[in-house]
Amino acid sequence: MYHVAPIAADRFALAIWDPSWNSYNNCYLTPQEQGWTLIDCGKQDHTADLAAAIREVGLRPQDIGSVILTHGHRDHVGGLALFVEAEAWMSSRDASLVSEEKRLCLRPLDNTHSVAGLTVMPLGHHTPGSVALYDPTARVLYAGDYLCFFREELPPDGLVTEGNGLREKTRTFIAGWSKSPADRQQYHFDQFMRGLQTLGSWDRVDFLATGHGPVLKGGIPQFFAELLDDGGYPR
Ligand SMILES: [Zn+2]
Repeated sequence: MYHVAPIAADRFALAIWDPSWNSYNNCYLTPQEQGWTLIDCGKQDHTADLAAAIREVGLRPQDIGSVILTHGHRDHVGGLALFVEAEAWMSSRDASLVSEEKRLCLRPLDNTHSVAGLTVMPLGHHTPGSVALYDPTARVLYAGDYLCFFREELPPDGLVTEGNGLREKTRTFIAGWSKSPADRQQYHFDQFMRGLQTLGSWDRVDFLATGHGPVLKGGIPQFFAELLDDGGYPR
């Protein structure tokens, strides 16, 4: 089971339901100069759903010219074999997370400022090689699992949503995290907040598209500013 929804012109969210995790695992389609780019490719078990979701947009897997992986976890890299002709990119800092077979197909994102028209920003949180990708044309920020809505249902207005309840929940989570010295240390709170300062410094972001669950629309710089406030960090 999956949902497909347009985010902005020619940008699509593909949210594939994962019954074993009770979560949506997301992939995204965005156009490049020639062909299309896929951001993340889901679990190996869900390759058939991913191919069906791509066809629902009117494309075929062979139309994908580039696959960019936000990080090396199996729910983001598992479908790679479907795109044998595409250039595939991932940070080499996550190389140990993927099989040797996959590693041999991957080009390193390190020290690469831009791929397929997307700005690459290393975050180093969630996994060592986690990156955010920014589409300046459609103003979409793809954040991988650095910030995501794992195990969240889709709200009544669908996959692309203002998501005010999710914003509140995230704010409460950050505020709680900031108050626990043990959790701050264990989960690298300061590194997370520094990443948020970078993401929050971009004022031209209209959509926040994460590795799992609903895509947020509108007020994204303000949302980041609120999270920085909640965490006790300067904007
Ligand atoms: Zn994930």
